[in-house]
Amino acid sequence: MSRKPVIGITPLYNLEHNFPWMQVDYLDAVAAAGGLPVVLPSRTGGDAGALLDLADGVLFTGGPDIMPHLYGEQLIPQCGKCSPLRDEMEIPLAYEAASRRIPIVGICRGIQTINAALGGTLYQDIPTQHKSDTPVLHSQENHIEKAWPSHKVTVQKGSLLHKAAGEDTLTVNSMHHQAVKNIAPGFKATAWSEDGIIECMEYSGDSFILGIQWHPECMHRRDEASMEIFRVFIAAASAFGRI
Ligand code: MN
Repeated sequence: MSRKPVIGITPLYNLEHNFPWMQVDYLDAVAAAGGLPVVLPSRTGGDAGALLDLADGVLFTGGPDIMPHLYGEQLIPQCGKCSPLRDEMEIPLAYEAASRRIPIVGICRGIQTINAALGGTLYQDIPTQHKSDTPVLHSQENHIEKAWPSHKVTVQKGSLLHKAAGEDTLTVNSMHHQAVKNIAPGFKATAWSEDGIIECMEYSGDSFILGIQWHPECMHRRDEASMEIFRVFIAAASAFGRI
């Protein structure tokens, strides 16, 4: 009997009371797609490679903002609360995972983690730094429960996301106030909201690296496109782990 691909999931972290925790939707979505979700420790001990030896895929989760100096910018007042502990763990982990060509998915903060780790930049605050004639509300928290969508994205034909979701347009949830600004070298944007914000990015080479700005793990129980994102991830992890 073959084993299940192990997906290392970066833990969330309670900054006020200093403990790691996990949102069960990430675990459920990975498990529903056939993976074995394993929550990683909140520190690597300086050896990201030792953790990656255990994983067939890595999922970078949502969370607070990334410290702007990590992508070469100075803090602006509109930037949100940052988590130096998570940055310290996740940025080297993302870099090392990409170097090893381990399949990676980044969700919300996770797409931003991947982009910052691999040489891209972020909008510290979308309303301040990304003006649009067709503004989109990217924070639905006070209006719509997170399992339901609030804005559209247009999906690039021929992209990994398009092949997975099978649609030119998706309706997605939105709980972010930062976003990818300059995309990291080697990556392409493959979905955009109507204000032009990048909502999905993919690695152009052979490695499986997918960054999603929305939260498919919250929608996977009722949305087939969200579920399919996890299925293609687990398939890539299976292939990587020769399972
Ligand atoms: Mn959005």
